[in-house]
Amino acid sequence: MQVIRHPEPRKRAYELNKLAKRLRRQVGEAIADFNLIEAGDRVMVCLSGGKDSYGLLDALLALQAKAPVPFELVAVNLDQKQPGFPENVLPAYLAARGVAYHIVEQDTYSVVKRVVPQGKTLCGLCSRLRRGVLYRVAGELGATKIALGHHRDDILATFFLNLFYGGKLKAMPAKLLSDDGRHVVIRPLAYVREDDLAAYAEARGFPIIPCSLCGSQANLQRQVVGAMLREWEKRHPGRVESILRALSDVRPSHLLDGSLFDFAGLRPTGQPAPAGGERAFDSMELGEPLFAED
Ligand code: SF4
Repeated sequence: MQVIRHPEPRKRAYELNKLAKRLRRQVGEAIADFNLIEAGDRVMVCLSGGKDSYGLLDALLALQAKAPVPFELVAVNLDQKQPGFPENVLPAYLAARGVAYHIVEQDTYSVVKRVVPQGKTLCGLCSRLRRGVLYRVAGELGATKIALGHHRDDILATFFLNLFYGGKLKAMPAKLLSDDGRHVVIRPLAYVREDDLAAYAEARGFPIIPCSLCGSQANLQRQVVGAMLREWEKRHPGRVESILRALSDVRPSHLLDGSLFDFAGLRPTGQPAPAGGERAFDSMELGEPLFAED
């Protein structure tokens, strides 16, 4: 993890400034690439008290101040009544920063504890309940977008979880329609690395609320996939970024999904493929393998 702990204050400030700029640039790129925020939007920023959501709010506030189009931000925290939840931390932080906010109190914790059998992970039901509450609140607040703090590494971990365990080529989109069809959910941190968010949170001294209050065991498969990605990145720098790029450069004609490409109706056209187009034998044309074998 990149940590900003240079002994010289000026050097530390320089590094933090560089990191803040990168964060804003990457959030700005995601907003532009997916048209995440438009003029007149009222964006509900979901704030859990974790490093990612603090980073998200911080970047959106900075961009809002310079954005060529006006949009509103309202921070929302769902107090799920987990034992020991420090309920004053977020209101104090948000008030000090002058951010409009709304705290929703709903005891999903007891529901999850009551319904999920002992020893089973709580996260599935907990997230579904939380999502439902957030959609309701978005409607009540007149929010036109719901912003979540998922970052690049969440997207990639989801991609591999679906690949390994779900048999699906599917990640987490940067923009999607909510399950109830009434809201647009956005992920402005889609291009941001998790270790950048961790370093930024530490350097900015965000008052982090630990996510272990619920006592749920962490999602083991997600942890294993996360460790796999970190190990790849260590051994083959650039690999993780390449996988992310691949998610935005999909060739249905070179996969096996007949619902995305009309393989059945494929006929000779008599025309050569355009420059840079698909090639039947392109695996032989790549030359050096992209990555050395593990
Ligand atoms: S870690 Fe706890 S709070 Fe987070 S989704 Fe799982 S059960 Fe819910």
